[in-house]
Amino acid sequence: MKLTGLHFLLSYQCNFQCDHCFVWGSPWQQGTFTLKDVREALRQAGGVETMKWIYFEGGEAFLYYPILQECVRLAKGMGFQVGLVTNAYWATALEDARQWLAPLAGLLDDLSVSSDLFHYDEKLSCQAGFASQAASELGIPLGMISVAPVEAAPAENEGELMYRGRAAAKLAGKARQRPWESFDACPYEDLREPGRIHLDPLGNLHVCQGISIGNIFNAPLAEWCAAYDPHRHPILGALVEGGPAELARRYTLPVESGYADACHLCYQCRVALRDRFAEWLLPDQMYGAFET
Ligand code: SF4
Repeated sequence: MKLTGLHFLLSYQCNFQCDHCFVWGSPWQQGTFTLKDVREALRQAGGVETMKWIYFEGGEAFLYYPILQECVRLAKGMGFQVGLVTNAYWATALEDARQWLAPLAGLLDDLSVSSDLFHYDEKLSCQAGFASQAASELGIPLGMISVAPVEAAPAENEGELMYRGRAAAKLAGKARQRPWESFDACPYEDLREPGRIHLDPLGNLHVCQGISIGNIFNAPLAEWCAAYDPHRHPILGALVEGGPAELARRYTLPVESGYADACHLCYQCRVALRDRFAEWLLPDQMYGAFET
């Protein structure tokens, strides 16, 4: 595996609890990186020759602002390009947004702001507008992340809604259902040769949210990358061979008449397989165990 991006889930906590969230983010979620663990993870990232980008996301990374600032400083100091993903809840006015972003100017290579009808009651929130203007004034490259509503064709600059995590539980039933056999490939992640990976505060390395390939507190990241072989992984092997439909088939799982998309079937299969493959389908946070 030639990783170019490591995405820290700095915290599973979020000030919002959006229906479409892959990682079940909420104010009640548990699990946040300590600085000590971030330092160790960055040290390991430095041992992966191909690594270029470090992202900090969540949950909502700005909930732990002083820690986030130090993480960004550390990653930049190691020569990585650094990105942040946020819902910009903190940008309550332009002056305030400037105050939040000024310490990050010169350190960030990308600030991605989530704004859509899942996060706010308007597609482009005031907060996203203030964050965008402040970022532009400070010379911070900015991108917007916007997800289309259920059953709506994505507009320009909008991403397709994917039904994994809380989205599978809360939204999939509202979408048009298609036969399970039709989901014979993973449409969104390159599982054969992933270019990026998510790292959670417990040390789990997620090729897709909730599908772990190992833990950096048990062995270094470079070793997990070198040993990566999706065909030897009980979940990824099936997904690579024939998508979520093969996962259902291989483990003779009961299936429903239809699913909203490939991720919906994949997620439901994984929920059914968690006890059997507890080492790979974790942690509880990714499967909504702390939902209130
Ligand atoms: S099909 Fe499964 S592995 Fe692929 S993106 Fe969807 S949830 Fe992830």
